[in-house]
Amino acid sequence: MNNLDNKAAIQFEQLRQLYSLNVAPLVTSSFLAAILAYMQREVISSTVVVAWFSLITLIMFSRAILTFAYQRSSTTSLTRTHLWRLGFRLGILISGLTWGAAGFLLFPANAPQNQLFLLFILAGLTAGAVTSYAADIVSALLFSLLVLTPIIIRLTLVGENLYLAMSLASILYLCHLIMSLRHINRNILENIVLRLEAAERESTVKISEERYRLLLSYSPVGIFHYDTNLIITYCNSHFVGILRSSIENVIGLNMKQLKSKVITPVLSNALLGEIGNYEGRYIATFSTADIWISMTCAPFKDKAGAIIGGIGIVQDVTERKLAEEEIKRLAFYDHLTGLPNRRFLQDRLNLALASSADSGRKGALLFLDLDRFKMLNDSRGHDIGDLLLKQVAERLSACLREGDTVARLGGDEFLVILENLSQQPSEASAQAQQVATKILITLNQIYFLDQYEYRNDSSIGIVLFNGHEHLQDELIKQADIAMYQAKKTGRNCLCFFNPIMQEAITARVEFEYDLRKAVENWQFSLHYQIQMNNSDHPIGAEVLIRWRHPQRGLVPPADFIPLAEETGLILQIGLWVLDSACAQLKLWQQAPLTRDIALSVNVSSKQFFQDDFVTQVQAVILNYGIKPSLLKLELTESVFVKSIEETILIMDTLIATGIQFSLDDFGTGYSSLQYLKRLPLHQLKIDQSFVRDIAVDSDDQAIVRTIIAMADSLNLNVIAEGVETEEQRKFLQDNGCVNFQGYLFSKPLVIEDFEEFLKHT
Ligand code: C2E
Ligand code: MG
Ligand code: MG
Repeated sequence: MNNLDNKAAIQFEQLRQLYSLNVAPLVTSSFLAAILAYMQREVISSTVVVAWFSLITLIMFSRAILTFAYQRSSTTSLTRTHLWRLGFRLGILISGLTWGAAGFLLFPANAPQNQLFLLFILAGLTAGAVTSYAADIVSALLFSLLVLTPIIIRLTLVGENLYLAMSLASILYLCHLIMSLRHINRNILENIVLRLEAAERESTVKISEERYRLLLSYSPVGIFHYDTNLIITYCNSHFVGILRSSIENVIGLNMKQLKSKVITPVLSNALLGEIGNYEGRYIATFSTADIWISMTCAPFKDKAGAIIGGIGIVQDVTERKLAEEEIKRLAFYDHLTGLPNRRFLQDRLNLALASSADSGRKGALLFLDLDRFKMLNDSRGHDIGDLLLKQVAERLSACLREGDTVARLGGDEFLVILENLSQQPSEASAQAQQVATKILITLNQIYFLDQYEYRNDSSIGIVLFNGHEHLQDELIKQADIAMYQAKKTGRNCLCFFNPIMQEAITARVEFEYDLRKAVENWQFSLHYQIQMNNSDHPIGAEVLIRWRHPQRGLVPPADFIPLAEETGLILQIGLWVLDSACAQLKLWQQAPLTRDIALSVNVSSKQFFQDDFVTQVQAVILNYGIKPSLLKLELTESVFVKSIEETILIMDTLIATGIQFSLDDFGTGYSSLQYLKRLPLHQLKIDQSFVRDIAVDSDDQAIVRTIIAMADSLNLNVIAEGVETEEQRKFLQDNGCVNFQGYLFSKPLVIEDFEEFLKHT
């Protein structure tokens, strides 16, 4: 409360006292006035007495009404308080004056007894007034002075010694009254202040209690108090909400009876003066609550500082915990199979490496890939693919011992960590192989994928590890390399990593890099190798590509064409060869010597089956305006394996424009009379491997003879490649082969040399 409020409150209280104590003095003074008037009527003129008595009665009556009005009002404002006080003091003034007037008017000159009676009445009245009005020093002072001063003057005026002495005594009496009045007034004021302060303190306590009560009831945390016997003495509604219980069940509960002892240490430590915390799972004993809580307990002390119990604050953190778990699950587990993912596996692998370093025991990393999974996905849909992955995950987990880890890397790739294998490398290998074999067999059993029966093969690459000898990424790569090796070996195979594999892979990676650079910087050129007929007349040439690498030197096409096919670079390279050959044919159109030379261009399977192969060839021919019959495309048997129907369709379309087709390396591939009959070919090219030993090897001789006879029956032209000796040529010629290509005539030559060569034949 501030000063102003304080003052107003004191004034209000003073006024309340004045008015509440006013009734008794009013009643008393009315009686006194009546007695006085009655007694003095014999010695004073009755008119004066009646007039005085009427006046005083009127005044008393008015003051009584004022008092009554005050008591009914409920004013608290400061101005109103002032007004009421003014009214009160006015009443005092008027009645003081009227009583004072009695000192003159009702003072009988010759009746000493009545004089004494008057003095007695006035003195008594003043004494009563001083106590009644002491709360307001002004009113009390005013009243006493106004009542007693006239009679003192009147006594003095008599002039006799006795009267003077009475007058003096009255003055002393008045002085004494005034002094007592100051004392009483101070006491009253102090009393008022004390009472006000007490009231304020009480209200502050009430407010604080209410605030605490509200805080406890509406607090978003559970709060409970317990005594030194661990009996709950209080709890808020949130606390019982968390425990799925009720206040009746919880209050009085002895926490020593709880089955779960996880919180007991924190509860007890608070009784020893410690503030403790527990965060974890909590299974309630007397309700169904199975939750995650965060609980803090602190000691509860009395005024003297002695611990009389504990206070606990509990939060239900289940949702947060679940969210945390979910985040962890998403971050470390594969959502489809529920297996650990790559991130988790890396963690585990690190631990496995560390534990292997400690124990000296070996471990193994298995890289598993499902064979033909893509085919299943493409043919049966991803849902079926997912079903297989889930079942594979289950079977994998079932194959492993506790402590081993299986993870899904993504797609159809899984990794398995085997720990605690033998310290001996050979034994550890055998153990790893045993597990891998078990996995292969288990995964090879029939699957039921939505009523669809499926059998799956897989390939496993294995790498052993020994402590921290390897980096984990390197290990995973090595297991991966071994897995590829296993895939190459055949279906449902396992393969251990060996460093030579890595060298091969590294070499391949470098080679691929070089090939891409070669395409970027165009390090290719073309050689031309003559083809002759049996009258030693040039009939055509084969276009053969060369790659001149700045460090590797001349790289033979047999080395880089397969990689170019694998990487798709062959499309760009092949088109360039085709374009260059046609450009050359165009140039040769001018000269009679070269005008009829046909060019054979090798076409790889990937190139042949690209969507716009036909349009590409047609566009090139159109572009150079060459005779299509001078362009011969050499296909190998590998082309037909893919799709005989499609092959025939493409060939037919191109043959319609006049282009010729030759079947290269005939006899080495999937030669079948069946498809040979159906293909619209112009030429068979006997592979050089049959020609090489033709002079001495009777088997080769038989094969060549059969090829020639077969070509003859199919009405196909035949050419032999790799003819190096006169003997070979003679044999071929004697058996009906009339076209040749080989070193006997010329090696493949750069264009200038080739043209020079032509001039001399
Ligand atoms: P191919 O089409 O069977 O080519 C004949 C290969 O035999 C050529 O090897 C040629 O130099 C070689 N040769 C020719 N006569 C003799 C001989 O008397 N003795 C011996 N030992 N070899 C002889 P090259 O140029 O190394 O080409 C190898 C293979 O690379 C070719 O076999 C062909 O399949 C492929 N190739 C070459 N150029 C291209 C091309 O531009 N595109 C495609 N897709 N493949 C090409
Ligand atoms: Mg060829
Ligand atoms: Mg060939």
